[in-house]
Amino acid sequence: MISRKSRREIDQMRRAGRIVAEVLALIESELRSGVTAAHLDQLAERHIRESGATPSFKGYLGGGRYGTGPAAFPASTCISFDAEVVHGIPDGRVVHEGQLVSVDVGAIVDGWHGDAARTFIVGKAAPAARELVEATQMAMMAGIAAAVPGARLADISGAVEDVAVARGYGIVRQFVGHGIGTEMHQDPQIPNYRTGSRGVELQSGMCLAIEPMFTLGDGDVHVLPDGWTVVTSDGSLSAHFEHTIAVTDDGPQILTTIP
Ligand code: MG
Repeated sequence: MISRKSRREIDQMRRAGRIVAEVLALIESELRSGVTAAHLDQLAERHIRESGATPSFKGYLGGGRYGTGPAAFPASTCISFDAEVVHGIPDGRVVHEGQLVSVDVGAIVDGWHGDAARTFIVGKAAPAARELVEATQMAMMAGIAAAVPGARLADISGAVEDVAVARGYGIVRQFVGHGIGTEMHQDPQIPNYRTGSRGVELQSGMCLAIEPMFTLGDGDVHVLPDGWTVVTSDGSLSAHFEHTIAVTDDGPQILTTIP
């Protein structure tokens, strides 16, 4: 059962989404060679709490369909470097010039969730890395554009997949986008590739987190012994972009943005 949100509820989610977007903008402004992931996470948590919100990820219990960890996630952001795809734990590791740093943020306001992610390039990266990042963002936008009433879930998946296939990138298949609302992860699951099923029909009021993860390799991943960090098995670079959106009669609306 996929919940449909009222206009008022979508506006509530917009409040959470704005805080998430502000955190990503803050991290972008602070991201430079020499800064630690833990420092960025502290800035994020402070901004979330000062905005009257709660970090969704801190204390998130893994082991379900989406979490990978054996215990509560210890931080307010996931920060993943280079071959790390998602769910990296921000620690004392230092950011270096040329790295890809993927930051995933979730916030809750009055019970409503926002969830978004971006891969940042620290300084200048090799052209292949930059192109991967650009294509992953483009795929997210293509998926969002497909999220209109009357379309099917597979239209989102296919739009994302097409961008990866055209460029020869690997698609991470073990992790998927998701419905979102009063919980961070709701139905439906949104694969970043065609499954052979057309999936449910999209209807106005559905709120979705669309989040492609592409790699320079074949897309196979595994979880590190920390129980959380997902890495490419071939060690290739990866990128991850995510927005929370609402399907509306006026077209898809991105909620994780600063108006
Ligand atoms: Mg998500």
